Amino acid sequence: MPVVYLNGEFVDREKAAISVFDHGFLYGDGVFEGIRTYDGVIFKLDDHLKRLYNMAKALLLDIPLSKEEMAEKICETVRRNNLKDAYIRLVVSRGKGDLGLDPYKCSKPTVVIIADEISLYPEEMYQNGLKIITSTYRRNSIQTLDPQIKSLNYLNNILAKIEAVKAGYPEALLLNLEGYVVECTGDNVFIVSDGVLYTPPSAAGALGGITRATVIDIAKKLGIPFEEKYFTLFNVYTADECFLTGTAAEAIPVTEVDNRVIGNGKPGEITKKIIEEFKKVRTLYGTKVY
Ligand SMILES: *Cc1c(COP(=O)(O)O)cnc(C)c1O
Repeated sequence: MPVVYLNGEFVDREKAAISVFDHGFLYGDGVFEGIRTYDGVIFKLDDHLKRLYNMAKALLLDIPLSKEEMAEKICETVRRNNLKDAYIRLVVSRGKGDLGLDPYKCSKPTVVIIADEISLYPEEMYQNGLKIITSTYRRNSIQTLDPQIKSLNYLNNILAKIEAVKAGYPEALLLNLEGYVVECTGDNVFIVSDGVLYTPPSAAGALGGITRATVIDIAKKLGIPFEEKYFTLFNVYTADECFLTGTAAEAIPVTEVDNRVIGNGKPGEITKKIIEEFKKVRTLYGTKVY
């Protein structure tokens, strides 16, 4: 029977329920992580937990488990579901409170760990690349809600996703309020121009992705010049290559943006090299579940 971890217990996933007074539900008050396991190894679990606890700290949300306890519960959730290749969704909300938004009236944060399978885009898109558009919505400003926090308040991303899907595209690129490219709805963005790999800095309003960091390490290892840099849509349209990264999507080429063909319209050589190397390293940096 598939189970989920919910506040200290493992419960049947069909019966797992939280209160309608949970502020995660009422206000989107909380944080989450998306984590993957490859062949029974949880990829960069320590990095995910470090980010989760940092995001919780920024929101003054005290997670009722230590990082070590959380790691153990995550492993146990994967084990109890007999999964080897899984996607783990870890959610910590402010917990049950009253109808007002005061988080100090919430007794205890809610902790949920779900382990399941996920596939974000069809295999054909990994082979041929994604065609995407730029959203008319702007990514949340760092002055309002810093996009470095993977919060339960995901409406900014959802509105951009709706716009893309309604227009017939699987994904949308988001700019910040100044017009610089920051990221996609749930993925970081990279471009390659004249042999140099670029991605926007987190301070521009992009999430500090674990996959993004892995790709940067891969570039260093492969001797591909890399720079964290602010850039505009012009730089994307005229790039030789473009790809997106995220735990769920992994790394996926982009071959068209706003009807502009990127490079020769096929996944780029550097992109392919990085994706190939990512497939090699993704079982190396991890926590063994079994
Ligand atoms: C999770 C997420 C990413 C990707 O981060 P990973 O750690 O690589 O999964 C990028 N952008 C947003 C908005 C996200 O929520």
